[in-house]
Amino acid sequence: MTEKSESTIGVLALQGAFLEHVKMLRRLGVQAVEVRKAEQLAALDGLIIPGGESTSMGLIAERWGLVEPLRQWVHSGRPTWGTCAGMILLAERATGQKRGGQTLLGGLDVTVNRNYFGRQVDSFETDLPVSLFGDVPFPAIFIRAPAIAEAGPTVEVLAQVTASNGETVIVAVRQGALLATAFHPELTQDTRWHELFLEMVT
Ligand code: GLN
Repeated sequence: MTEKSESTIGVLALQGAFLEHVKMLRRLGVQAVEVRKAEQLAALDGLIIPGGESTSMGLIAERWGLVEPLRQWVHSGRPTWGTCAGMILLAERATGQKRGGQTLLGGLDVTVNRNYFGRQVDSFETDLPVSLFGDVPFPAIFIRAPAIAEAGPTVEVLAQVTASNGETVIVAVRQGALLATAFHPELTQDTRWHELFLEMVT
């Protein structure tokens, strides 16, 4: 893990579950910094946009002058991983938005359904098969989670879930330097998604 510890990973710390990502990165021996200012981006090797509330995160980012710098970061091909609300922010298109729409950073050629899995009461945990990880499924925690309804041709689908309505939807993707998961790996003890992102960074 020594080569990994040379990278510095930023976690966008405007709102939501940023601390859990920071802790998991540090557990892996990686330098992790909470990002609240545009000036911090230049020193990073990768950025995680955490789960939380994508509308609030977008509003705070607007207020703090972070939207354009973050768009530039994502669109210039820097490694970025969005979990849950972070996945929504990375999407080019979203459905189920609040009236008047919401700020998206874009970059990921997908359409997300913002609250696909319903309200807070519809949170659930499932053993998610992920072919990249072999035979051991990932304990995926979904909290008011989005899902990807459509993905463009350059988007690699990493995991899918069959919802209670019988529909199969995409819940993890990779496209170039972008990674997105609809669930919360930072709330588990399983470090495999964080390790995958670190591989994308180095
Ligand atoms: N559905 C939420 C949103 O729109 C995301 C929930 C989460 O990040 N746990 O932001």
